Amino acid sequence: MKILVIDDEQDIRDGCERILSRMDYGVLTAPRGEKGLEMIKSSAGAIRIVLLDLKMPGMDGMEVLHHIREMDESILVIIITGFATVETAIEAMKRGAYDFLPKPFEPDHVRIVVKRAIEKILLTAEAKKLEAQRRKMLLDLDAEKSRTRTIIETLPGGVVVTNTQGQVVLMNPAFLRRLGLSQDRKAGEHIGEYIQDEGFCNYIESISKGDVPEKPDYEIVLSGQKYLLARGRAVQSEDGEYLGAAVTITDITNLKVLDQLKSEFVAKVSHELRSPLATIHEQLALVLREIGEESGKDHHLIERAKEKTHGLISLIGDLLDLSRIESGMHSKQVKPVRLDELLASIVDFLSARSNAKKQSLTFDKPAQSLPEITADPMALESIFGNLVTNAINYTPEGGKIEVKAGIENGDLWVTVQDNGFGIAPKDQEMIFERFYRVKNEKTRYITGTGLGLPIVKGLVDSLKGSITVESEIDKGTTFKVVLPIGEE
Ligand code: ADP
Repeated sequence: MKILVIDDEQDIRDGCERILSRMDYGVLTAPRGEKGLEMIKSSAGAIRIVLLDLKMPGMDGMEVLHHIREMDESILVIIITGFATVETAIEAMKRGAYDFLPKPFEPDHVRIVVKRAIEKILLTAEAKKLEAQRRKMLLDLDAEKSRTRTIIETLPGGVVVTNTQGQVVLMNPAFLRRLGLSQDRKAGEHIGEYIQDEGFCNYIESISKGDVPEKPDYEIVLSGQKYLLARGRAVQSEDGEYLGAAVTITDITNLKVLDQLKSEFVAKVSHELRSPLATIHEQLALVLREIGEESGKDHHLIERAKEKTHGLISLIGDLLDLSRIESGMHSKQVKPVRLDELLASIVDFLSARSNAKKQSLTFDKPAQSLPEITADPMALESIFGNLVTNAINYTPEGGKIEVKAGIENGDLWVTVQDNGFGIAPKDQEMIFERFYRVKNEKTRYITGTGLGLPIVKGLVDSLKGSITVESEIDKGTTFKVVLPIGEE
């Protein structure tokens, strides 16, 4: 930064030069206006402050000021003036001079005025820098925002974001495509306006509030056999406040069709296998009877073969049950059922098995009789028959199995509790999967298909109920089934 002194009086020029050079600034001087303007031009912006005399021969100060302002408005001009010309100095200020210095002046006076000008220049420079930075940041933010938007717009999967009230704040074209909606649809309406599915709206609303839904995802069935899978997460601010939900939508129609084909295939094969197997089983029984027990080794071999065919027949029975449940085709012969009577008869029927293992199997009839529920009795028998059979199978000799029932929050509940082997936490998550069997020393010799609990789960779901398990290794297991009263 340089300071230029334009004055025709040699003393003033020298005086200023002396005073200002002590302030560590380069000082230039010019005896005339024209010369001064030339120096400014050739300094390439280095001269930031000009001390300018108003009364000079040739071009006067006012004109020089005019030219400086034209050249570069940011140069600060300090007018040097005698008392007689204070008014002209004020006029000069009006025309853009920054300050003025009345003659005669003390060195300190010059320093103060110049210092103020320097500060002003530094502050202006700082402000400019900050402004540039702010602009750049805004530009970056803008670019980032439009980049994120472009990415969301071009994602192949459907994306929709809602606020806590369930209003759509953002959605992409894939979302509209998946739902068969026009690409012109705008965000802003409640999610229920885009997807008419009450369960889905509840799912979104509960996620938005930070509740964890029962299932991590939600299946939407659209007309025309189209299936979508929605998976949502809560959107949270930095301080943990819930702002809404972000949901991805995937088309799973093909997977559904494949699953259906697979189920149909399994059902068909099972069906085809069942009668020949039943025939083989009967024939083996016949042969056994004919050759009699004396035949020794042969008898044993055929007995084993008969047992194996029996195992296969029950596997096929389970597979057929499961495919019927999955296709929603299981018997819908609903009628009013007294659950306590049904449970008593199941326990009675299975007590032969528990007696054989010296186990105590009891049903605590609730003091207050249970209301009737409308359901398919076969489904209920299958559910509780399977649970009690499992309890007998997976409890050692001399164990204890208790069946209890009651009413809670307007729903019926049944628990089947044993003090048997128990199920490890990692297996508890899996036992409702098809063919999953826990393999360890204790369960090794227990035969089963791994289809019992999937059947139970499928039936409980079809009754709009729920099933949960609590278990501890070597302490025992409790299965709890909750069923709504008065519903199919
Ligand atoms: P299966 O009994 O034919 O193997 P399930 O689907 O009925 O098939 O059960 C799956 C697995 O869950 C069983 O293999 C068993 O290990 C475990 N299980 C079920 N009920 C109990 C129980 N009451 N106690 C301990 N383990 C159990």
